[in-house]
Amino acid sequence: MKHALKNLLRARQGPMTRELVLHPGDFGLGRVPARLKPKGTVVSTCGFCSTGCSLKVHVDARGEAINLSADPKYPVNLGMACPKGWEALAPLAAPDRATTPLLRNGRGQLKPVDWERALLIFCGKFKEIQARHGAASVAFISTGQIVTEEMALLGAVAKFGMGLLHGDGNTRQCMATAATAYKQSFGFDAPPFTYADFEESDVIVLWGSNLCIAHPIMWQRVMRNRHQPEIIVVDPRRTETAQAATRHVALRPKSDLTLLYGLAHLLIARGAVRQEFIGANTSGYEKFARFAEDFSAERVCAETGLSPEQLEKFAAAIARGKRVSFWWTMGVNQGHEATRTAQAIINLALMTGNIGRPGTGANSITGQCNAMGSRLYSNTTGLMGGYNFTSAADRAKVADALGLRKECIPQENSLAYDQILDGIATGKIRGLWVIATNPAHSWIHQGRARELLDQLDFLVVQDMYTTTETAQAAHLVLPAAGWGEKEGTFINSERRFGLTRKVARAPGQALSDFAIFKLIAHYWGCGEMFAQWSSPEAVFQLLKKLSRGQPCDITGIRDYAHLEECGGIQWPHREGPPGKPKAERRLFADGKFFTDDGRARFIFDPPRPPPEPTDRDFPFMLLTGRGTSSQWHTQTRTAKSDVLRKLYPEKIYVEIHPDDAARLGVAGGGAVEIRSRRGALTAAALITATVHPGEIFIPMHYVEANRLTHWSVDPHSRQPAYKACAVALVGVRPRPGKARQPSKT
Ligand code: SF4
Repeated sequence: MKHALKNLLRARQGPMTRELVLHPGDFGLGRVPARLKPKGTVVSTCGFCSTGCSLKVHVDARGEAINLSADPKYPVNLGMACPKGWEALAPLAAPDRATTPLLRNGRGQLKPVDWERALLIFCGKFKEIQARHGAASVAFISTGQIVTEEMALLGAVAKFGMGLLHGDGNTRQCMATAATAYKQSFGFDAPPFTYADFEESDVIVLWGSNLCIAHPIMWQRVMRNRHQPEIIVVDPRRTETAQAATRHVALRPKSDLTLLYGLAHLLIARGAVRQEFIGANTSGYEKFARFAEDFSAERVCAETGLSPEQLEKFAAAIARGKRVSFWWTMGVNQGHEATRTAQAIINLALMTGNIGRPGTGANSITGQCNAMGSRLYSNTTGLMGGYNFTSAADRAKVADALGLRKECIPQENSLAYDQILDGIATGKIRGLWVIATNPAHSWIHQGRARELLDQLDFLVVQDMYTTTETAQAAHLVLPAAGWGEKEGTFINSERRFGLTRKVARAPGQALSDFAIFKLIAHYWGCGEMFAQWSSPEAVFQLLKKLSRGQPCDITGIRDYAHLEECGGIQWPHREGPPGKPKAERRLFADGKFFTDDGRARFIFDPPRPPPEPTDRDFPFMLLTGRGTSSQWHTQTRTAKSDVLRKLYPEKIYVEIHPDDAARLGVAGGGAVEIRSRRGALTAAALITATVHPGEIFIPMHYVEANRLTHWSVDPHSRQPAYKACAVALVGVRPRPGKARQPSKT
């Protein structure tokens, strides 16, 4: 393996084609298919968001990317791409790319070391911590940004090889709620839809989703709908999507659950439920219907701030619709009672029979390009392949499919992300390996998160860039290749496997995450366990095997070339007679769900008050969300593009209602200090009626944003509640009676 490491690194110095020819056996990396060597086009899947657009990357004679365009033939984006997609190559050329491993020296400086030393330090330090504090004292935080094959290899090496018990991913921050809700309600984490449903609905309900800017290509699919759909946006803020909708339901922050139960109550009262579907395909409806009786229109209006007329019209639109689709994203997922809110949406779809038919569904839109891959295969809080760590039968099945001893599979569930961080506070977690994510920027209550990272005995960050806030806190930085510099698959929001290709060489000594995981396995001493995991495509074949008989069965996908031929393939695609699968498919057309009895479950709980209501000292409710379609999460990549930087404000801003601004003497563009119980920031005032009096909004992408947010999580999904906390505009206090009060439920 030392020889392989040397070959791998030496090959990086030569031209791309030389690397391909000289060292084809090094973990299956560095190879670009022969057909790509001449000048031509490589079809790849975008590495930013979960839409999964296909991009045609135009390459020179060496197979290296020159520029790109959107793929007109792909069933997802139909020739469209958002600004991030068009600029997908720009972040690769950034000057702050990590090009060599960096180790913090005695003077606290990060200094270059060679790969061998880095790997020996990695293994030595983590083994030392494990010897002193137990195997579970080292944990890892994975990501939804790397390919499925890499995240599976990471999860396997960490949990089966290195003996780590605890590992989670940044998908905890965006998708844990949807995954939990589906598992409990449908028996498996199974978003049922296909993007064609955007075009087939006659009523589209977007709940907590600013689709126009968060998922612009999905919004374009809505715009292609020829049925003149009613588009209802439920959001406290008048977002770009709310402005473009036919109806905006501007409820009080965090009163969603009450509204959903109130709608259920009204639909039952109107007789607008499909008893036949409910009786044949669901369980728990009678109990739910009795529970919903408590949500009278009076109560719902009092708690949500909506008028009886608004409520009635909303219910009437759902009742009238022949094909109603419900879509949700972070406005639901990132809440203190997020799982029950998502399930209340699922309940509405079930009771009205809006599932399994074109244009219907209770549809969670995911965030990152491979959030769905993470949910199925990251081996973090669930055993890879949609299995359970706590089930002996599941462990045996996974061990058999992967050719491993079943004893190497942990029998306990991992701690979730927030619990891993809390574990640092108690001394339970001493070492942390962070891959392609940036918690020092993105985690709630940033001040505490950073303090905890600083308490670690050893922090390793594996990333494309040395400049992320988390890399700057690391003891060891491992330089990783980015999107376009390696290959593998992403799974998009509609369960479609899409292929992403190598079209550029990673700079310096940076390696693909796949190669890094293989090297770590070798230096740790468990490399033999993963001999079969020789290349991303070899891992894909293992994952196929693992999926056999599961709801996410992909045994019918032949190989990567098959994905390319078909324009991606949605799971499930079971082994069967050869033939091209349909371009778009949805689940539950037969009314059969993945629970033991085949019935979807109605799940509900009474609403709870938000964890940090406004009060005299902190009278404003802070809302957070995406800023523009040109910004991505913590901007580690989008800030590298000159083009994208021109498309969004350079500095953080805050949306303030004109009434509040007038009362407080805040001028447009003026600096406003915002303070929560956890920290403060200064932002430029944007005076706008997009927010209500007493509510302010800041975009999530700027590093200051999470100084303010509150450390609270949904109890079922453990997803952080980013969307509502109490803040003050320093030195000013609104006159009582003007602001609408947050929900007291
Ligand atoms: Fe990429 Fe998402 Fe934009 Fe499509 S919508 S180009 S997947 S960032």
